[in-house]
Amino acid sequence: MRTCSASAALSDWDGIPAKDILAYQSAGVETVADLLERLPKRHEDRRRFDSFPAQAGAGAVCLRGTVIDSRVRRFGGRKQYYEVIIVEAGDGILTTSKITCRWFNMPWMKNTLAAGHEVVLYGKPKEYQGGIFIDHPDFEIVEDDSDESIHLERIVPIYKGISGIPQRRQRIHAYELLRAVDPESLAPVYDVDPSYPRHEALLEAHFPESQQQADAARRYFALEEFFALQLSVVWKRAQVRAHQGRVLGKKTELLTRFYKSLPFDLTDAQKRSVKEVIADMRSPHPMSRLLQGDVGSGKTFVAMCSMLMAVDSGVQAALMAPTQILAEQHYLTFQQWLQPLGVRVALRTGSRKEDSHMELDGDPQIIIGTHALLYNSIEYNDLGLVIIDEQHKFGVSQRSRLIQQGMMPDVLVMTATPIPRTLTLTIYGDLDVSVLDERPAGRGEVVTAVRKKPKVTDITKFIKDHLSEGRQVYLVYPLVEESDALDAAAATVEYEKWKKRLSKHEVKLLHGKMPPEDKDAVMTSFRDGDTDVLVATTVVEVGVDVPNANTMVIQNAERFGLAQLHQLRGRIGRGEHKSYCILCTDGKSPEAMEKLQVLAETSDGFKIAEADLRLRGPGDVLGTAQSGLADLKFVDYLADVELIREARALAEEVLKQDPELEKNPRLLKLIHDGDVEV
Ligand code: ADP
Ligand code: MG
Repeated sequence: MRTCSASAALSDWDGIPAKDILAYQSAGVETVADLLERLPKRHEDRRRFDSFPAQAGAGAVCLRGTVIDSRVRRFGGRKQYYEVIIVEAGDGILTTSKITCRWFNMPWMKNTLAAGHEVVLYGKPKEYQGGIFIDHPDFEIVEDDSDESIHLERIVPIYKGISGIPQRRQRIHAYELLRAVDPESLAPVYDVDPSYPRHEALLEAHFPESQQQADAARRYFALEEFFALQLSVVWKRAQVRAHQGRVLGKKTELLTRFYKSLPFDLTDAQKRSVKEVIADMRSPHPMSRLLQGDVGSGKTFVAMCSMLMAVDSGVQAALMAPTQILAEQHYLTFQQWLQPLGVRVALRTGSRKEDSHMELDGDPQIIIGTHALLYNSIEYNDLGLVIIDEQHKFGVSQRSRLIQQGMMPDVLVMTATPIPRTLTLTIYGDLDVSVLDERPAGRGEVVTAVRKKPKVTDITKFIKDHLSEGRQVYLVYPLVEESDALDAAAATVEYEKWKKRLSKHEVKLLHGKMPPEDKDAVMTSFRDGDTDVLVATTVVEVGVDVPNANTMVIQNAERFGLAQLHQLRGRIGRGEHKSYCILCTDGKSPEAMEKLQVLAETSDGFKIAEADLRLRGPGDVLGTAQSGLADLKFVDYLADVELIREARALAEEVLKQDPELEKNPRLLKLIHDGDVEV
């Protein structure tokens, strides 16, 4: 076998037949390196097989056996499945250890697997009418050939399927290529671990001698991927910081007057955050800071302090809210607190399309609006500070838009979504972070209870009790179907029922399908206390501040994610009244109960976020919202603090040694090629 280079095309190596090369190519595998860096999705320890299960267990098993019988069976009219009976290897026909495997609606299976075949099976057994079944197992036919040492008596790799190339062949290709490739040619763009040669790591990632070895090898490649990600994050951060910003925030007269006018003291966390912001404003670099704090932790006051510092320096400050309602709410709050200090505050929301050019008359010092403030051409006088009140995510694009417009203001992003530190380093890795981890004093406690199928009469009584004390109530219904329309319909049906049950009170409906004017009218009437009960979908999730509302009943709570439930619950407990959140559930799934129990036990947003990460894994937590990250090959390592810290430290070290990457053009190329939008 001759030596080939990692960068060679697969077709340059004569070990793979042409039709397989085509199949690889359509799966995006073009070069030798592509094939070798396609790590197995899991391994099977074929040195020792599991014994045939006598009952359904918790996890998957790996079995070796012989097919003794097979047939096609019909069910439900025209549908069919293929059934195969397998006995434990070596036991022969007298054995009682057998298992049935079924493949539904895969008619070609009968040409693939038949009596006499020896197989290796992998899947989750279940019990059904006294027999043990595995439906749709991973399987591999054991063949008598010289390659047996690759497929048996060792820990073998199992790859993601490629149509047209069976596992065995994929494995042979990987095995042979690992031996044919020139180790030198596998040298990484940047060596994240000089003590672990990359060729060795690849070998052990495919054909390890122990599961630990496989894990260590996989971690090596995860580190490689996260290093590239962190390098690009740290690089971007350096790019922003390299811009000349302005020195603001020298004068503190307004801030002092503001502090004196407050009826409460800022929390220590608020004070710390204000200090951090002021330090950024005073530095000649533009500020890029993230202010993280649970709902109700007092972010708005930190925003006000920062904006007053800007105003005192003679520049304008803008606050952008995600929705019109929120912008209006902020505007009222700002008016209330800042007008007495003589600060001019203006509201610009551009709700009408034709408002693309917004006049800023009266020379306001503080401008409050929606994100439209970024997209419409506004004649700012001298914009020195931008605060973005962002509930869920904030794209790089918003910041770069300001930079494109030739402005380099200080930027503070506020988020109410607590994110575990590891994710912050990645998602917001180019921002400095301030955390409000303390609730202002004088807030009523929030009691959370999980209830399995509670009686409607009990809930009604509970609600009436609070209404009679003058409080207000949220009744929240989940997304019933993956459709806004059905969702709205379900809430509408429930709304009619509640109107009858609570006929002495003002009940209103709020859902996403309503025209914006109607939504605003309902919200305003709830805020002003004219509406007592809001029957709503998750539209109430986003920052509505009604301190008098102290009761929330969430139906089918199991259908919501933890973060979303936490966000919803943040709507209550905003005033001095003790508050109550009832999570109603069908109680069918133990996982859902465990999830809901987290909320009953803690109201600490960071703890909840960590539990969410643990229960669902980073891929699901991030969802499609952070698609850049969902594309990561090693997305599961997002929860690995140590790995991410290590990647970060490596990236920082590289850029410290070589800030412009002049000595590392390949790394510079890596940043530009792999430009991950995070
Ligand atoms: P967030 O924006 O983080 O959700 P807000 O800034 O809107 O929180 O504050 C929530 C509520 O707490 C407001 O009603 C506000 O007046 C009050 N508040 C903020 N900071 C304090 C404090 N230090 N002490 C007492 N109450 C506070
Ligand atoms: Mg807020």
